[in-house]
Amino acid sequence: MKPTPLALLILLAACQAPQPTDQTIPVDFAVFGERFLDAFWKQNSSFAIYVGYGKYYDELTVPDSASFALNRQFSLRWLDSLQAIDPNLLTLGEHTSWLMIENELRRTLWRIDTLQDQHWDPSLYNIGGDAWNILTQPYAPLATRLRDLSARIATADAYYTAAMGTLQKPTREHTELAITQNTGSLEVFGKDLEDSIAKADLPVQEKELLEERIAQAKSAINGYIAALETLLADSTAQFRSPQLGQPLFDQKFAYEIVSDLTPEQVYAKALAREQECHREMYRYANELWPEHCGTLPKPADSLALIATMIDTLSRHHVAPAHLFDTINAQLDRITHFIREKGLFDLDSTAVVHVRLMPPYAGGVTIASAEFPLPYQKNTPAYYNVADLGRKAPAEVESALREYNRWMLQILTIHEAIPGHCMQGGYAARKSPDMVKAVFANGAMVEGWADYGEQMMMENGWDSGAPEMWLMYYKWKMRECANAILDRGIHCLGWDEAQARDLLVRRAFQEEAQVQEKYRRALLTQVQLSSYFTGSTEILALREAWKEALGAQYDLKAFHETFLAQGTAPVKYIRQALLPQGKNDER
Ligand code: ZN
Ligand code: ZN
Repeated sequence: MKPTPLALLILLAACQAPQPTDQTIPVDFAVFGERFLDAFWKQNSSFAIYVGYGKYYDELTVPDSASFALNRQFSLRWLDSLQAIDPNLLTLGEHTSWLMIENELRRTLWRIDTLQDQHWDPSLYNIGGDAWNILTQPYAPLATRLRDLSARIATADAYYTAAMGTLQKPTREHTELAITQNTGSLEVFGKDLEDSIAKADLPVQEKELLEERIAQAKSAINGYIAALETLLADSTAQFRSPQLGQPLFDQKFAYEIVSDLTPEQVYAKALAREQECHREMYRYANELWPEHCGTLPKPADSLALIATMIDTLSRHHVAPAHLFDTINAQLDRITHFIREKGLFDLDSTAVVHVRLMPPYAGGVTIASAEFPLPYQKNTPAYYNVADLGRKAPAEVESALREYNRWMLQILTIHEAIPGHCMQGGYAARKSPDMVKAVFANGAMVEGWADYGEQMMMENGWDSGAPEMWLMYYKWKMRECANAILDRGIHCLGWDEAQARDLLVRRAFQEEAQVQEKYRRALLTQVQLSSYFTGSTEILALREAWKEALGAQYDLKAFHETFLAQGTAPVKYIRQALLPQGKNDER
């Protein structure tokens, strides 16, 4: 009997796993991991809240120079402990976690010593998000959560005073962002919180103390906002450029993307992919011209011709009232399609809850994914759909044109199945390793959602309609443009006009999106490169796996095996999936 591809894979993985010899003491890495993470959450209480740990929520770190020195010491001490473990004695999965912990600790040191964003990014300082999470996470009864909140905000004044002292020469852009976000945080301490306090089972004195601290916290936030506004208004104030420059960009890329590809290689691959997208889009736009544009004269410029076709097709979109039902129907279609083509197991990991977008997640986006928290794994993955009745008609029309009949399908594939919600489900239920869940690799997450779009198209999604392909390439072009823009802004000194040319002429974006993307490119660094880098690596891995397995190759087995590795950098998943000697091929 021939082994199934999966059995073969397990065999290959077992061959690579180092066998402990008689002289070595096996390391209980799971115990080490738990001990490390508990210490890490105590050191990083905001991060602990973000992953739903449920402990140390009452300890707000005041961001003065002593706190950064302590954080350095913490990282150095744990790097020592980590290095006392010989990674060669670990299983491959544990070795990956070892590497992910090491990367997180080194990244912390690099941020404090080299990137130094504590000095130039005022938006790092904001107590609102943590407070909101404490109030809404079901980790404890309401009275306990209010006590945690009360203790946490007790030092709000010292917190914002230290923040102002730590800032040296911020960027104008991050200063504006900090003002907007901290203004938003004031709402967290508003009416809903008052209602919660009123109904909470707490002694009156504790309630009064909490009320007093809320008043002080609001005044501390207002003081911070006022100080930042004064800084912006000061004509003699010096601001740092938000453009990172190549050395820092490359270092950040190494810590955050964790890829074998260099930033230069990613940029070159994105430019090549752009050419391919344009070629394909031109072909489909020409093919569709008689049906959709009739006798309208064709623009001579190929990019203008594509833009005209996209503009024409964008009229086909759902009515605002039907968005929710349409998305639900799409999920049904996608599920049937996956079953029919045998692309995934489709068990409990594929459960997605569609709901109206909660107010805090709102914005201009039509739909978004929400992952289960790593420490609250039984919470479902949510696919949030915007309640368009609450937005201005012009804004709704523009959003619906962007997410037209075809783009909306790609959005659902990207955010829900087989994209983010489904990957989140696998990470929570099939990869029990906490280290990979909490230090989740962003390029793997976004790369997976992007890979899913291409894989669905390759398998004949929407009967391979040319309109669907054209819009798929528009979406793909956006991912290429993200990577190109990221490097353009931070390494090549691009100005707004250069960014605009890329986004409007080469990537066919609507005006509202162009402004949002340019701002996002200035405020973030490297994140916009994660989509294209991750999907490029996943596709290369699939090709190498296919070659290694030959006749045993099976797409579903690739998907199941890949996702079971957890949210690790793709290059480590590659080591787990491919026998030695195959890893250097790309
Ligand atoms: Zn319309
Ligand atoms: Zn995404």
